[in-house]
Amino acid sequence: MSTLRFNAIKETLNRKPIIIKELERRSSIFGANVFNEDTMRQSLTKDAHKSVIDAIENGTKIDRSIADQIASAMKDWALSKGVTHYTHWFQPLTGATAEKHDAFFETIGNGLAVEQFGGGQLVQQEPDASSFPNGGIRNTFEARGYTAWDPTSPAFIYGTTLCIPTVFVAYTGEALDYKTPLLRALQAVDQAAVGVAKYFDKNVKKVNASLGWEQEYFLIDSALAASRPDITLTGRTLLGHSPAKGQQLDDHYFGTIPNRAMSYMRDLETECMLLGIPVKTRHNEVAPNQFELAPIYEEANLAVDHNSLLMDVMEKIAERHNFKVLLHEKPFAGVNGSGKHNNWSLSTNTGVNLLSPGKTPMSNLQFLAFFINTIKAVHDNEELLRASIASASNDHRLGANEAPPAIISVFIGEQLSKVLNELEHVTNGKLSPEEKTDLKLNVVGKIPDVLLDNTDRNRTSPFAFTGNKFEFRAVGSTANCANPMTLLNAIVAQQLIEFKAEVDVLIGNKDMKKDDAIFNILREYIKKSKNILFEGNGYGDAWAKEAEKRGLSNNKTTPDALKAKISKKAIKLFGDLGIMNKIEVESRYEIEMEEYALRIQIEGRVLGDVARNHVIPTAVRYQNILIENVRGLKDIYGAGFKKFAKEQLSLIEEISEHIEEINSIVTLMTNERKNANTIEDIEKKANVYCNKVKPLFDEIRYHADKLELLIDDELWPLTKYRELLFTK
Ligand code: ADP
Ligand code: MG
Repeated sequence: MSTLRFNAIKETLNRKPIIIKELERRSSIFGANVFNEDTMRQSLTKDAHKSVIDAIENGTKIDRSIADQIASAMKDWALSKGVTHYTHWFQPLTGATAEKHDAFFETIGNGLAVEQFGGGQLVQQEPDASSFPNGGIRNTFEARGYTAWDPTSPAFIYGTTLCIPTVFVAYTGEALDYKTPLLRALQAVDQAAVGVAKYFDKNVKKVNASLGWEQEYFLIDSALAASRPDITLTGRTLLGHSPAKGQQLDDHYFGTIPNRAMSYMRDLETECMLLGIPVKTRHNEVAPNQFELAPIYEEANLAVDHNSLLMDVMEKIAERHNFKVLLHEKPFAGVNGSGKHNNWSLSTNTGVNLLSPGKTPMSNLQFLAFFINTIKAVHDNEELLRASIASASNDHRLGANEAPPAIISVFIGEQLSKVLNELEHVTNGKLSPEEKTDLKLNVVGKIPDVLLDNTDRNRTSPFAFTGNKFEFRAVGSTANCANPMTLLNAIVAQQLIEFKAEVDVLIGNKDMKKDDAIFNILREYIKKSKNILFEGNGYGDAWAKEAEKRGLSNNKTTPDALKAKISKKAIKLFGDLGIMNKIEVESRYEIEMEEYALRIQIEGRVLGDVARNHVIPTAVRYQNILIENVRGLKDIYGAGFKKFAKEQLSLIEEISEHIEEINSIVTLMTNERKNANTIEDIEKKANVYCNKVKPLFDEIRYHADKLELLIDDELWPLTKYRELLFTK
């Protein structure tokens, strides 16, 4: 009997939900562990408080003496809450977050000690950065980077540690993290959008990008997860036959949340409240044991930090509930994967959502300007958007089980499609007063402020307009949102700059009225970016063929997709906007290629090990039982035994064939891997992993999954799909 698997199942079946005592009302604990504006107002002098607000709103520098004051207030606040350590919390390019804890404790001689924390520690710290990936930016003699507080993201307490959100930059000035380019992109889109918004309202001074992510995940019992080496080491199952019952019945999606999962969620939500993460919705997702959590949207940089923090917190809280959280995009083949929809919009300091239709023709023209510019930006940069969500794990999700395909397209719904059709026929040049009145009354004026058909969602669209925001749905569940958010805000910034320049030319040289000029430019944009609009079903061959005709890219693998990141166009985009220089862009490409190769390498090793050391020995053991049985039948029946041993004999043969296949493919894969590892050039290496190593995974899996069906259930060592997915 396969002890580990059965012990794990037994343990799981005996679990009881952990009782969670609800703290006070959510609103009263919200942000209790955050050094937020309210806390700052209470604990800082007027000057210091003003200086932080200035830094948040206008990006001004905080000077050293003020930094000392803030640090001291932060320390006192943290100590009063039982905190002993502080850390600069940042997002290195590995996807996870990083921390290095230091105690507040300092000795001051004569055997005495105090709790100390000054401005220097707040603003600049040198972590030993030599082991973070940097794609060659830092030479060995420059193996240092520094971290500095990002005041737009408030410090928070987690456990007994004060965490200070920081940027991570090399001494040579290059960004080594996700946050730095994101902050630069947000600044770029702010400036560009203010320029355009001023056509409609002179009072607009600042435009914020907002982000509301929806995090999907699986919850698997920790004992069951630990019984699978593939889940433990790669976050997904590399083997496993699909269960008799899958998600066909949709009964999980509409069902009640299972008790243990519910108590996990309540615990998680309480922690989120304390940390100021405004989580609001929770529900089951399509697949069994799959769930979703979504917050109220926030300013994009803060939302990105909150999502990164959330992913950490999810894992930590799960331990308490004997769960393992699977954030992987495709933990189970043939079952719905997990995404992280990025709901994105732009809003002004005057409180206007620029992607929300308004009540007057003029506000609707503003909406259309931002709406159409976004579509044009996506159209012109679809390949870069695809690249921004590329990862080894997301490759498995895209294009399968209702996930969006690798082809980027934009869904806008029937009502807005009609509006764009009308606008496409606006007169070239100055508009007659009649035409303008007609447009204002019957086209622009008729956009309802609630767009009904946008609730009828097309789930397979990678980039959909959903009423008052765009939803980038191709983002994967493990992703750091900073990557897609940096790109999206950058391309929209670039587009808005171009738009303003073109409109200004028409106003200046052609002596056109502002709205005539805007209509004229929008008309051209609609014509130019039509190809990206797609309302149909996003997967299957029909769309792939159609998309190819339209000239849209369809980069199915990460190495193919990532190439766009170092195109001339990308380097120019980031360079022109001051978001990243060529070195930064190229080093990120290298890091991502390397990460890809590493992931496939690890999966290959684990799969080889599981196939050879778990699957084959089990197959041999079962085969021996069969052989024993056949021998017994022969003893009893002599020459006539075959009549009784038919099934056994054919099983013995079938098992041998699968063993033989697994053996030879694993050997082949190991050789391909060895070959890949000798390649120095990271791009070539990633391609060999992608095209030579990875395709063998499916072949090995095919035979192993066949064996799973043939072999006595009692002997099978790997916890099965039905057990992983249906044990609650
Ligand atoms: P659903 O997509 O499940 O119907 P909603 O449309 O209400 O739910 O919102 C999904 C996510 O979009 C939530 O995280 C929400 O906060 C976010 N969201 C709503 N409005 C905006 C906006 N203007 N900008 C960014 N995100 C938004
Ligand atoms: Mg959604």
